[in-house]
Amino acid sequence: MQTLNDRELGVIFWAGPDAAATLAPYTDIGLRCGQLGVPGDYPLEGAAAKWKPAMEAAEFRAFTIVASYTGEDYADMPTVERTVGFIPESTRAERVERTLRLSDLAVELGIPGIGCHVGFVPHDPTAPLYVAVREDVRRICDYTAERGQTFVLETGQEPAQVLLEFLHDVDRPNLGINFDPANMILYGTGDPIEALGVLAPYVLTVHCKDGDWPPKDVAGALGTERPLGEGSVGMERFVAKLKEIGYKNPLIIERESSDPVQRMLDIRSAMALLARLR
Ligand code: MG
Repeated sequence: MQTLNDRELGVIFWAGPDAAATLAPYTDIGLRCGQLGVPGDYPLEGAAAKWKPAMEAAEFRAFTIVASYTGEDYADMPTVERTVGFIPESTRAERVERTLRLSDLAVELGIPGIGCHVGFVPHDPTAPLYVAVREDVRRICDYTAERGQTFVLETGQEPAQVLLEFLHDVDRPNLGINFDPANMILYGTGDPIEALGVLAPYVLTVHCKDGDWPPKDVAGALGTERPLGEGSVGMERFVAKLKEIGYKNPLIIERESSDPVQRMLDIRSAMALLARLR
C-alpha cells in the first residue's frame, strides 16, 4: 500500500450501491484516503466483497467507517437531540448492534477504526441517560479493542469540557475523537480552535468543514454549513493549530451540500485551500 504524507488530504463520503463508482470521483481528483460513511439502511451483507476490491483497485485507504443511523434528523437542535445517535431509547439497542456490525465490516476491509455521532451527551453524569450512553460507548470500545480498532466520537454537539469529562469517564484506551471544527460553530458550543487545544490528546482524525454560527433570533436553530474557507472556522488558524498539536493524520474534507455537482466543486476548492495550508 502506498504511504501517505503528513496531513494528506482526504474526504468523507457515503457508500453507494456501486463501490467503484462511489470512489471514482474522489480518486479521479487525486484523493487517496478518507472515511467511508455507511448509511443506516445500507445493506451490510456482501458489503465487504464489494468494497474491498474497489478500494484496493483505487488504492484508496479508509481510516474509519463512519456510521449514521436510520431515523436521524439534523433539522434543528431539538430534533437532533431527539433523533441522533444513542440518545433515543427506542432505537439505542439496534443502533449499538449496527455499530458492532460495522466493526466486523471494518475487520473485513482492514479499516483501523469506526466512528459515529453518539448524540448530545447529557451534562449531568448522574443522569440515567448519561450512564446508559457511557455504558454503550464502553461496550463498543471493548468490542472494537478486541479487533485492534479505535472508536471515535464525532465532536461538536457538546462543549469541549463536557466531552473531555465524558472521555475520561468512559476510560477506554482505544476511544478517541474525530474533531469537526464546524460542528462546534453549527451547534454553538464554543470556539473550535480553543476546543481543539483542550481535546488534543484524543484527536485521531479531523474533518475540514466550515460553517456559520446559528442565528441569534431563532430558538433551537442550527448554524449553516459553508464551503471550506467561507465560514467562521478560520481554516488558517485551524490548520496552524493542528500543526501545533502535532497532528499528522489526514485532513478529511467534509462537504454536506445536497447538490452533487456543487459538492464536488466545493471539494476541489477545499483541496486547493488545504494544499496551501497543510
Ligand atoms: Mg463531521
